[in-house]
Amino acid sequence: MIAVRKIIHLDLDAFFCAVEELYDPTLRGKKFAVGGSPDGRGVISSCSYAARKFGVRSAMPTSQALRRCPGLILLSVNHPHYSEYSCRVIAVMKKFTPLVEQVSIDEAFMDVSDLPEPIADIARTIQKEINETTHLPCSLGGATNKLVAKIANNIGKKSVKTDTYPNAITCIPPGYEAAFLAPLTVSELWGVGQKSAALLKNLGILTIGQLASYPLPMLQRKYGNSAAGLQAHARGIDNRPVQSEAEIAKSISQETTFSRDVDDEARLRRMIQRQSDQVGFRLRKANLRGDTVKIKLRWGDFQTLTRQVKTNGLVNQDSQINDYAQKLFDEVWLNDPKPVRLIGVGVTGLEHPVEQLELFTGQNQRGDSLMQALDEIRLRYGKNSLKRCIDLESRTITFPTADESDDPY
Ligand SMILES: [Mg+2]
Repeated sequence: MIAVRKIIHLDLDAFFCAVEELYDPTLRGKKFAVGGSPDGRGVISSCSYAARKFGVRSAMPTSQALRRCPGLILLSVNHPHYSEYSCRVIAVMKKFTPLVEQVSIDEAFMDVSDLPEPIADIARTIQKEINETTHLPCSLGGATNKLVAKIANNIGKKSVKTDTYPNAITCIPPGYEAAFLAPLTVSELWGVGQKSAALLKNLGILTIGQLASYPLPMLQRKYGNSAAGLQAHARGIDNRPVQSEAEIAKSISQETTFSRDVDDEARLRRMIQRQSDQVGFRLRKANLRGDTVKIKLRWGDFQTLTRQVKTNGLVNQDSQINDYAQKLFDEVWLNDPKPVRLIGVGVTGLEHPVEQLELFTGQNQRGDSLMQALDEIRLRYGKNSLKRCIDLESRTITFPTADESDDPY
């Protein structure tokens, strides 16, 4: 029998605002927000619960927030402060287990399976410790896996009707995962955005429960290879481990799962080219170079192969990465061409080059905002200003490729 895991998702409540209140206690209870200027295209990063009552939300244009909430106090973003408190919170979490996976500046998973107490008791103890040590409010979700813990936390936070921080704790007992998820709308599921939700609605699927019991072959016709994974999630199944940054290999990679297996060599090569460009972009943006290029291929029967090669010097240019990746692909394809289910390109053996060049070239891509915030801090306070907490660049950063649009992940 497989041991039941105890996974906790922790989310700091209105984190930026909570930190601002610590620096200026007169803000407490007031309508205020942290965000960009209303003149430009500034958006709200975080808003107090008093401001939320007026309909202010994060990611809302600042100009719109000010219209909805007259008298809203607007503070500019102070990343060094937030980063410092974020580190303190992670340090408290690590007192309970080394298995802490930070997913953003205010969110982390932890695996507390080794602790003997019931998960709800563990969550309460952690929350109390964070409240007392850092004076920050936080909400926790607990379950047997990451997916359900995170959704439990989201739902728990939303269900607290208060004018102040929710400080919620929501735990789902083992065996109740599917029942908990069933009545929720599909958009609560990880990876189901507006577009996927609209597609599912066309199939008559509104709730996670309906998705869980939908005939898989019909789902596969719409979603291809990712249908099974999507349905497993809807049933509350998620085996992904909590990975502390120490365990995550030093690599940046880009993977794509095709909705239908691809045996068109030209298309596969174009994908490698594109993935190489994306990996290069991320390396340069993170001010990194690597000494190894790798490719990953998975076939229709789920067999997976990786091939890697040491580069001649450190690389972070698209064309360099592409050249190595195409040669690796040659070795496999010329030998045994067959339909490919997943393809990926990565660079490992990462190092910082001496000079930091043009951090902000190119467009801001999804998922890069934290990295960019960290880059801003480094620009202002020096490269080592963040090292003591979590070296983000040591994490494996894998992004799905955008244009496989019928793939919900
Ligand atoms: Mg938060």
